[in-house]
Amino acid sequence: MPTYARAPIAFERGAGAYLFDTNGRRYLDFAAGVAVVSLGHCHPHLVAALTKQAETLWHTSNLYRIPAQERLATRLVEHSFADQVFFCNSGAEAVECGLKIVRRYQDLSGRPHRYRVITFAGAFHGRTLATLAAGGQEKHLAGYDPRVEGFDQVPYGDLDATRRAITDETAAILVEPLQGEAGARVPPPGFLRALRKLCDEHNLVLFLDEVQTGIGRTGRLFAHEWENVRPDLMAVAKGLGGGFPIGACLAIEPLAAVMTAGSHGSTFGGNPLAVAVGNAVLDVVLGEGFLEQVRRTAGALNQRLAPLAAEYPSVIAELRGTGLLIGLRAQGAASSQAALITALRDDGLLVAPAGDNVVRLVPPLTIDETHIEEAGVILDRVCKRLVS
Ligand SMILES: *Cc1c(COP(=O)(O)O)cnc(C)c1O
Repeated sequence: MPTYARAPIAFERGAGAYLFDTNGRRYLDFAAGVAVVSLGHCHPHLVAALTKQAETLWHTSNLYRIPAQERLATRLVEHSFADQVFFCNSGAEAVECGLKIVRRYQDLSGRPHRYRVITFAGAFHGRTLATLAAGGQEKHLAGYDPRVEGFDQVPYGDLDATRRAITDETAAILVEPLQGEAGARVPPPGFLRALRKLCDEHNLVLFLDEVQTGIGRTGRLFAHEWENVRPDLMAVAKGLGGGFPIGACLAIEPLAAVMTAGSHGSTFGGNPLAVAVGNAVLDVVLGEGFLEQVRRTAGALNQRLAPLAAEYPSVIAELRGTGLLIGLRAQGAASSQAALITALRDDGLLVAPAGDNVVRLVPPLTIDETHIEEAGVILDRVCKRLVS
């Protein structure tokens, strides 16, 4: 179905930060399958893990124990706030699982009237009916009424509005540490910490959507670590599989405790193939010095981009983001977002669209200075062309 306005291009092969199209042309991939291929294309350690698993066992269902799934859960728990993990296949499912946990937790705690979740304008939480209602974006909701009930939306970063939206029926606050699809929007400093405080005061669940920001994307394993905030619930997906579909919902014990046998499920969730790759991704991301290197790379990329934004203000109105989740807001005068994306692609650089007229740069976390320089040269050339 034509649910995507696809670019007239198809790729045949990928290696590291590069993709090769069916004509053999090489592209530098700073879209990385929309912040998914975090270790680059065909990372040897991931290929080895997947290949070995493919020759051993693909799928058994969650009717039986899956040791590698238990290992991946244990590792996620050891490196996060969480006590338990539920595995699924996508970001939307991970958020959906968290929303179900919120409702069931409040219900089983004798507060069934507390079911509403506060979310933020510009949010993106997925395309299922509940996650669409949570995201609250009219363009995504059009035609899908009636909406799943129970979401109250306030402006992103607005603490007073958040406080005012809390009622006796509020169960949780669902928030992205920075908004990816909305265009790498960073909230004011201290926002997450203030939300944590609000949740503590009102006995609400703090539910973070780290589907895009998690697994090293911002230079920390999880973006909330930048503010030293402890969530109660968290959804991850994109980077966790490095291109293999997997999602996970992480929860603290009191929440996880309500998810008893039969309360939720997934046929494919955390199957042997997916968790073999997930474990291989963690081998790399949790490796000595990896996240530190991501922070250095992000610093270098920003240093390369900042002068371009200064030199071509009629093309690049603003540079924003955290770590390797970067947004270039297109000015619109010389270039619209779509024009910029097409021009960059024509010159061999792939980037991803986002809201607010933003071009998103979400390269593999493994890029080095040669990739940064190559991207800088292409951007410089394209900006020059667009202003002339
Ligand atoms: C991509 C994304 C989702 C949805 O993930 P899918 O795998 O497409 O279902 C949810 N939340 C955020 C923040 C995302 O970036």
